[in-house]
Amino acid sequence: MTERPDPPVPSGSMLVSGTVQGRIPLPKYEPKPDPESLDVWGFPDSGFEVTDKGVVKARGHRYEISGSELPDLLPWMRGVIEVDLDAFDVHESQYPGVIPAPVVNDGFRHAIADFLDSDQIDDDDQERLRRGHGHTQEEMYAIKYGALPRIPDLIVFPGDDLEIAKLVQAAIDNDVVLVPYGGGTNVTEALRCDPDETRMIVAVDMLRMDQVLWIDPTNLEAGIQAGAVGRHLTDRLAEFGFTMGHEPDSLEFSTLGGWIATHASGMKKNRYGNIEDLITDVTVVTRDGVISRNNVGPRESIGADPRRFILGSEGNLGIITQATVKIFPLPEVQKYQAILFPTFADGVAFMYDLTRSGNWPASARLVDNLQFQLSQTLKAKSSGLSRIKSHVEKLFVTRFSRDSRSIRWSPVPSFLKAAKNRSPPKKQRSNV
Ligand SMILES: Cc1cc2nc3c(=O)[nH]c(=O)nc-3n(C[C@H](O)[C@H](O)[C@H](O)COP(=O)(O)OP(=O)(O)OC[C@H]3O[C@@H](n4cnc5c(N)ncnc54)[C@H](O)[C@@H]3O)c2cc1C
Repeated sequence: MTERPDPPVPSGSMLVSGTVQGRIPLPKYEPKPDPESLDVWGFPDSGFEVTDKGVVKARGHRYEISGSELPDLLPWMRGVIEVDLDAFDVHESQYPGVIPAPVVNDGFRHAIADFLDSDQIDDDDQERLRRGHGHTQEEMYAIKYGALPRIPDLIVFPGDDLEIAKLVQAAIDNDVVLVPYGGGTNVTEALRCDPDETRMIVAVDMLRMDQVLWIDPTNLEAGIQAGAVGRHLTDRLAEFGFTMGHEPDSLEFSTLGGWIATHASGMKKNRYGNIEDLITDVTVVTRDGVISRNNVGPRESIGADPRRFILGSEGNLGIITQATVKIFPLPEVQKYQAILFPTFADGVAFMYDLTRSGNWPASARLVDNLQFQLSQTLKAKSSGLSRIKSHVEKLFVTRFSRDSRSIRWSPVPSFLKAAKNRSPPKKQRSNV
């Protein structure tokens, strides 16, 4: 466990004395390459498998449950769906299936060769397939057991705003479709291509535009490139004692640009707000020019704000290249509590009361009994005293409580609690 970095977030008197710089440019940050799986959610080294004994085991090393057996999971699933599932009767994935041949626009390829290096252009089939979908059940099923009829024909990896502006011009000149790509985590089919599109479709992957450019401890703002992945920008800001506080469940893979383009919501919104509350400026390359400003105040009363149109625009109005976001000092302590209610209605009543109390935790989630049971089955097999404790808890929940429905609140996703290499603030946990 590490304390907040030294020097800490500047105090009011430090700011008044003028010893604190305004915008502090940050040196280039190079996160270690850690590619995701192309055909399923997550990293290739993590996942679930069934052991010879027919027990589910969490593979890998990244998470708290990694390497553990989850003996309750399959029996619980069998009970819930009332089917005696055979764990070894697997519907084998056919990934990647049939991948549509690319449409090639020679004029566009010729034009981009003038300003992009060869390693910024990719026409690999599986990479193209990955840029053509998000994470809906339908899309994930299609890539494993069916096919996507239309996907991007080419991927480009621009490195700065100027290259994006040139890409847009080349697309206009050659009648090519550009689709910005962040983490590919959307669940709204935002990346699915129109099957009848005859023009060349080019995915503009923002991967290389991933930097926290500057932080401003006086005005509590940071300038961040749109391709910055949630887990990286969170770590980077934490190095300097700050957080953006935006934590969608997809934080590991989704990007700042994607959050803005999909109007995302984070689980700590009670404390920090949703993405629309956190963005104070945005730079967008549109078909008709660039929306950008040299300076930005936290708020202005000057009528309609066209930058707001970008929220939720899903790439239709232009390519977001960077944004100015609000930042907050990291909390000194994070507390987690779980409360068990006799009935679900009691939990709902509590949530209403909590809303009116004006004293919200950063995150509060009411889960029903099924979700609660699932979370219990995802716990590693315990031993010794903790096994007895776990047994007593389970007995209480399943035998004695009236309805066994529960409320949980947790300010960070479980993978963050589990990550071994992070240095979060002090955490305290209790169950009520
Ligand atoms: C397991 C899981 C958990 C999730 N949890 C949440 C959650 O808690 N809250 C929530 O709101 N959503 C959640 N989502 C949905 C998804 O993560 C969000 O919609 C996220 O904001 C998408 O970001 P992305 O970078 O992956 O965008 P992508 O999926 O790559 O793109 C989404 C859309 O935005 C456009 N786009 C991407 N980058 C840019 C850019 N730079 N400029 C212009 N347009 C761009 C794309 O063209 C596309 O139309 C979850 C999804 C999954 C699979």
